[in-house]
Amino acid sequence: MIRKKLIAGNWKMNKTSADAVSLAHGVVVAVGTQSNVEVVICPPFTALEGVAGAVDGSLVKLGAQNMHFEASGAFTGEVSAPMLRALFVTHVILGHSERRALFGESDELVNKKVLSALKNQLRPILCVGESLAEREAGSTLKLVQTQLERALEGVSKDLAAGIIIAYEPVWAIGTGKVATTEQAQEVHGFIRGLLAKLYGEPAAQRVRILYGGSMKPANAAELLAQKDIDGGLIGGASLEVRSFVDLIKAATEVP
Ligand code: PEP
Repeated sequence: MIRKKLIAGNWKMNKTSADAVSLAHGVVVAVGTQSNVEVVICPPFTALEGVAGAVDGSLVKLGAQNMHFEASGAFTGEVSAPMLRALFVTHVILGHSERRALFGESDELVNKKVLSALKNQLRPILCVGESLAEREAGSTLKLVQTQLERALEGVSKDLAAGIIIAYEPVWAIGTGKVATTEQAQEVHGFIRGLLAKLYGEPAAQRVRILYGGSMKPANAAELLAQKDIDGGLIGGASLEVRSFVDLIKAATEVP
């Protein structure tokens, strides 16, 4: 099964709207007409509209970094799936470790968001991953299993294949410490095995599983060559055209 590689940029709370549009233009020009690798950029909410204009007509897709599970209502400061859809957003990062750790997002909340995203034809980029303490305690696989099973509760087999999973060891995010290819492949293979148990082998083979955590042009090729690593969710290195484009190039060159 050939899964198209996917490189997604998570810009986090960086870039004004004008700066985001300029970065998006740079990515659009560099991606051009290459379609071997799917490219998604996820600017902050305030820049979504501007970036939607910048990527219009290109192969670059637009993602959001979070959303509320309700469609509308008294949820001050929140943004819903229909609001994102109206800005031509196609993807949404859900359950990022920063949201879990800094904003108290539970597996149950992430599950509600996943269901709402799917109901609104948004493709979730569902993040899972262990902390350093959990890795050192030997509970990585158990933790990832729990996060994944809870986040996917109520997701049908038909919709499951459209979900993108991002394995992001928390200790590797923004730290410059990247997981070894063996560590990453072990968890990616485990995730695919779990998906096969939940949804059957054909569906599991269709799901893209991204690695995230200090992925850079210098370490990308080796990670992306692993059997179950289908791309990257990129934080720091997605904030400059040069490094992001080099990552896309690394993904296009995977044998
Ligand atoms: C992330 O936040 O999803 C991420 C992977 O960040 P970084 O690439 O900076 O480690």
